[in-house]
Amino acid sequence: MKPEKIVLASGNQKKLKELSEILNQFEIDVVPQSQFNVTEAVEDGLTFVENAIKKARNACEQTGLPSISDDSGIEVDYLNGEPGIYSARYAGEGANDEANLNKLIDSLHGVSAELRTARYQCVIVYMRHAADPTPIIAQDCWEGVLLDEKIGDGGFGYDPIFFSPEHNKTAAQMTPEEKAAVSHRGKALKRFADTFKIYQNQN
Ligand code: IMP
Repeated sequence: MKPEKIVLASGNQKKLKELSEILNQFEIDVVPQSQFNVTEAVEDGLTFVENAIKKARNACEQTGLPSISDDSGIEVDYLNGEPGIYSARYAGEGANDEANLNKLIDSLHGVSAELRTARYQCVIVYMRHAADPTPIIAQDCWEGVLLDEKIGDGGFGYDPIFFSPEHNKTAAQMTPEEKAAVSHRGKALKRFADTFKIYQNQN
């Protein structure tokens, strides 16, 4: 059965826009969890998948509606995969994007270009209800190289130093459409939509 309304388990406006655009094709309303006064989930999982499930389950529990969540971050090879699931709080609990970005620039100070490889990861989870034993899980990543200075003022987070050799520009120099076509989130969302289509026909 097709849901008419899905709760977005995030307060992030950019995520809401990207998700709404992709779910429009299914004529489903995506409503941010703030409209239901949902309290934030505790993100204490050790993987993106666990944290995305925790966020989606929390929104289902508090609204009684199906929900969709996204958990994402950046893995830096030179830092053995850090900050990874801790990307949003790399510079400490409650840190903003700028502080996190500056900390990453400092952590890579003096590291040579060939060792500065990294990737963005994104996991999307959809749950029909809080006890859903078969959530839809879609994942993808985006490979890049980290610069030692910021270039561009689009995007958010680590985008000003995330350079895509394929496009010869940073994520912060891309238009939202360009970024969505190649990004971890854009690609994971497409995978999600493909699975959701099949799922709609079965349920
Ligand atoms: P989440 O909202 O808990 O999933 O945290 C994601 C964090 O990963 C953000 O706060 C950013 O630091 C980082 N991140 C994820 N996706 C992107 C992106 O597309 N650009 C820049 N930073 C990102």
